[in-house]
Amino acid sequence: MRNTSLSSCGQSVSNKYHGPVNNVGRHFASSSYPLQPMCDSKESGSSVQCQCIPLVIVEGFLGRTGSRIWGDFERHLNQECYQCKRRVIFAPVGPVSSLHDRACELYYSLVGGTVDYGEEHSIAHGHSRHGRTHSQGLYPQWSLENPLHLLGHSMGGPTIVKLQYLMKQGHFGSRAHPDWIRSINTISSPFRGTQIVYTLGERVDAAPRVRPLSPGSLLSKAVHAISYLSPILPTLLDLHTESRRMSYHDISILCLLKQLWKSDWAESQDAAPFDVTFESADKREANLEGQPYPRTFYRSCATYLTEKCEEDRNLHTVHFKLLSFPLISPLSLLARAVGSFDFSTIRPVPSFLEERGLSPIDTEQDLFATDFQKTLPEEYWANDGVVPLFSQWHPASCSSTRCQHGETKSPAPGIWYVEQWDNTSHSSLVPLWVASDCQKQYWLKLGRWLRAIESQNEYNIVTSTS
Ligand SMILES: [Zn+2]
Ligand SMILES: [Zn+2]
Ligand SMILES: [Zn+2]
Repeated sequence: MRNTSLSSCGQSVSNKYHGPVNNVGRHFASSSYPLQPMCDSKESGSSVQCQCIPLVIVEGFLGRTGSRIWGDFERHLNQECYQCKRRVIFAPVGPVSSLHDRACELYYSLVGGTVDYGEEHSIAHGHSRHGRTHSQGLYPQWSLENPLHLLGHSMGGPTIVKLQYLMKQGHFGSRAHPDWIRSINTISSPFRGTQIVYTLGERVDAAPRVRPLSPGSLLSKAVHAISYLSPILPTLLDLHTESRRMSYHDISILCLLKQLWKSDWAESQDAAPFDVTFESADKREANLEGQPYPRTFYRSCATYLTEKCEEDRNLHTVHFKLLSFPLISPLSLLARAVGSFDFSTIRPVPSFLEERGLSPIDTEQDLFATDFQKTLPEEYWANDGVVPLFSQWHPASCSSTRCQHGETKSPAPGIWYVEQWDNTSHSSLVPLWVASDCQKQYWLKLGRWLRAIESQNEYNIVTSTS
């Protein structure tokens, strides 16, 4: 039983999940990386020229709110700065787009120009090669000399990872380089997929097909209806679906009705829901997407609010006491579903089961009722209401990437630093600002982390606010 409240997230010590061997767990443990000189700033007359590298924020699935609800986080991000204010950029990316499409939208929103999804990709997935045009990029000077920090919440994390991978692949031409990204910072990101997508509608045996009348199916109908009416709807409902030609300018009402019956978007491999299946995550990992680049800094924040149900099983649950918090109630219910999910039903068999020697034939048997719940560690069920813990750590398994879990000493590039926050839901830290202690702590620590990275800056990069 917990003896803590949400406002003290992370303080719980009872019954708590400690993660992999090298994880020391407590997220409120004081950071011991050197707190360099806050950000350098130079007085020029009465104004202060900020030399901090700007921070780009990429929201998650359905995220479209930006600074409207993210609130007063900058005060804490810059709390230990000397009079200057790091530039923060909210990147406009498609709230329901696939990782590939979101990564392309992210790139062109920053550098400017017409979004190019790539010839091969657009032919393979049956949508237009080009999207909208950004006449003015949000950071057109983006380069080796003017790099960026990126922060992704939920699907925003793998979006950034995909962007860096595409930069490396030369998708954006020979000039774009993965080193333009100085750091990748993520909160509650489903790097390795999440079982919630199956709970909500994706078929366990035939993704990306969607079960009729499931929440996922209803969501896809809403996406079609909103896209159809998009020319007359407010920008808050802009789903960035123009490359798919779903508006009334492009299709007839009959065509819309067909899509409402069976959605080509939702049941394709080029949509956000499929990208968070284990099948899609395994494909990305097979391509070595998400392997850390040697000159970029990586830090993930993994959240969970569940605890182990019983001593001899690794399933997780959430205490119903949390249901008294209105904001977190739906996530608590989802957390219970994620915490008791039967992985043995998924086809193809996820790599994390195969790694443990469980073959498709084994999983045909009722492993769920037998040793299966002991074989698979509890991080596969511990979750924040949306994403299991293991998936939030980093892309790929700990044995096939460079990672360090627990208290951070000093940032070094090319390694995923993983921090775990217990008693914290998928939406406790962002996006809705409620000025909680954990929100303030997160932004304060992120500000320190970014400055610690900048203090190691080997390029002597100087940027300035616009
Ligand atoms: Zn600054
Ligand atoms: Zn696409
Ligand atoms: Zn790891």
